[in-house]
Amino acid sequence: MAPTHVLRCCQRGLAWIPVIFIALVVCWSYYAYVVELCIFTIPSNGEKIIYMIFFHLSFVMFVWSYWKTIFTMPANPSKEFCLPKAEKERYEKEERPENQQEILWRAATSLPLYTRTGGGAIRYCDRCQVIKPDRCHHCSACDMCVLKMDHHCPWVNNCVGFSNYKFFILFLAYSLVYCLFIAATVLQYFIKFWTNELPDTQAKFHVLFLFFVAAMFCISILSLFSYHLWLVGKNRSTIEAFRAPVFRTGSDKNGFSLGFRKNIAQVFGDQKKYWLLPLFTSQGDGLTFPTRLVSADPEQGTVTLNAAPNNSAADISVSPLSDSQNRLLSNDQHANSVEDHMADGTFKPAESEAVTMMAENEAVTISMESES
Ligand SMILES: [Zn+2]
Ligand SMILES: [Zn+2]
Repeated sequence: MAPTHVLRCCQRGLAWIPVIFIALVVCWSYYAYVVELCIFTIPSNGEKIIYMIFFHLSFVMFVWSYWKTIFTMPANPSKEFCLPKAEKERYEKEERPENQQEILWRAATSLPLYTRTGGGAIRYCDRCQVIKPDRCHHCSACDMCVLKMDHHCPWVNNCVGFSNYKFFILFLAYSLVYCLFIAATVLQYFIKFWTNELPDTQAKFHVLFLFFVAAMFCISILSLFSYHLWLVGKNRSTIEAFRAPVFRTGSDKNGFSLGFRKNIAQVFGDQKKYWLLPLFTSQGDGLTFPTRLVSADPEQGTVTLNAAPNNSAADISVSPLSDSQNRLLSNDQHANSVEDHMADGTFKPAESEAVTMMAENEAVTISMESES
């Protein structure tokens, strides 16, 4: 076995340590609450039963959402975002960055891309050899491009992104409920043990620690949970909160924001009955996202994507939509969101220039070639 391979295996193994730590704490908390507190300490049967029912409800929801966050594979860009074989070979042989960009611009004409690099170039991952869809980023820990990547979370040993963002939020929510419930119900027994109203038994040690651990986790989870709720309301990923996405009109931290209600629906879906369940109900396919700068007119065959302002390249208009793009753009969610967005009057006409509809395709080739 090559040394790098061994190192990689060790890294993968070590990455599970935080998850195992959390799992052990959760197992101990289960034992401490159910056995030491409910069975050995609480005298009233009625209180025991009520505590046990609510404890198990929050425990099941917490473990379920934690499990889904850990074991849901991150979503990757689809085949449409890979360069065709011939173009890829040309790209690899090409040494000049401007010529490489030209190859990318040409390939990107059939893709629904609205974001660019800070320098106005097409976002391309050399490692995965793929054009990055909007909001997609390469995770060095997972060594792959992850759709709508939020962050790599060591506590779940997984990337939090399009495929599991809802599960991650629910995991935070249910762990908060779990800890709050434990802290609130343990408090009176904590005080009784502390003031020697209950005899010194083994349960004392467990109950005291249970309260401290639950209270400590409550505080740390609460801050993270409120931050992510704020991000959901703004339709920003953690990465975008630190570095605003760059559109044709420049960087715009609210570029993907469609208004509070629609932002929530993007992550949790339309149907409120599924919001609290760790089932995948996020809108869209993770490859394209409605933006407040962009509108697509289904009546027209072409879409113009514009270069960023500091790019010398002229506007590049796109030829009739390929099958893949048709599929991507005809995504119900995408079309609906854009339409709803226009219908509720939040769409700003002044910004609609980011995408212009064109009937002629010839202009594309001309503008591209004059650029090179
Ligand atoms: Zn990548
Ligand atoms: Zn990752």
